[in-house]
Amino acid sequence: MSAENAICTVCGRKPAFFFRLYSGEKLCKKCFSKSIEEKVRATIAKYQMLKYDDKIAVAVSGGKDSISLLHVLAKLERNHPKASLVAVTVDEGIKGYRDEALKIAVENCKKLGITHHMVSFRKLYGFTLDEIVNRLKKKGKGELTPCAYCGVLRRKALNIAARKVKVNKLATAHTLDDETQTILLNIFHGDVLRIAREKPVTDEAHPKLVKKVKPFCEIPEKETALYAYIKEIEFQSAPCPYASEALRNDIRVMLNRMEEKHAGTKFTIFKSIERIRPAFEETAKKEGLRECIECGEPSAEETCKTCQILKQLS
Ligand code: SF4
Ligand code: ZN
Ligand code: ZN
Repeated sequence: MSAENAICTVCGRKPAFFFRLYSGEKLCKKCFSKSIEEKVRATIAKYQMLKYDDKIAVAVSGGKDSISLLHVLAKLERNHPKASLVAVTVDEGIKGYRDEALKIAVENCKKLGITHHMVSFRKLYGFTLDEIVNRLKKKGKGELTPCAYCGVLRRKALNIAARKVKVNKLATAHTLDDETQTILLNIFHGDVLRIAREKPVTDEAHPKLVKKVKPFCEIPEKETALYAYIKEIEFQSAPCPYASEALRNDIRVMLNRMEEKHAGTKFTIFKSIERIRPAFEETAKKEGLRECIECGEPSAEETCKTCQILKQLS
């Protein structure tokens, strides 16, 4: 990663501070951050993620990825006066963790002049994540990890929030690392057909589901952190106390090791999947979504996953 004594290969003037191994570029700070903004712009165009007049909500957790995405999109959006941008944060109710992240999200929005909305598990579901985890533990029912519950509940919360603030696109900060980890995780779980669904732009599977886009899907996580650092963006660095999805962590470590030894591994995995996804899509049954009989939200089953979790609590 060090680019000692080298000159930026893009501007040819300033000292380089980052060596992008997979491309061979040595970049100064300015050219590096420009390259991230340009890459996001190109990714949005490549996957036709956004239109000039879209109403966009950015899912902001307060971590480096989502806060960096908010800053990059705010900058790109200035060229599209007809588009609008808001931020949405889900307060899962994780004591000693989410409060700080929320504060950071609010402060960044204020700096950027972006309206911030918050939606909480407690308000939507009647329980915080802490309460859900404790209750399930007491009942001996918590067979899944807290992250598995959190993921289901947060996906739904974000969709409800996006509808409430009347946007037609929801941008999430999934990076190249998240995407490649998820691909391998699905393979390791034997759930390969999920790969058909988890793409850079989601399908319009149900009128109540807001389209999700991932403008960072081709940006390595290391570089979103570096972008935040160069731009002096404040973000939350403390990890979530529940962050211990064992298999994902093992995959993360393995991928990082592979990337170190064989630069470009993550891109190769991502691009391979992009190429074979149409074949997956042909094999995968199109998800016929209906409305949950309990809450009326889009669901693959009669009762949605969220309502199934909440039923276990009572
Ligand atoms: Fe939720 Fe897990 Fe993320 Fe914590 S690490 S916020 S529990 S998904
Ligand atoms: Zn430069
Ligand atoms: Zn439901």
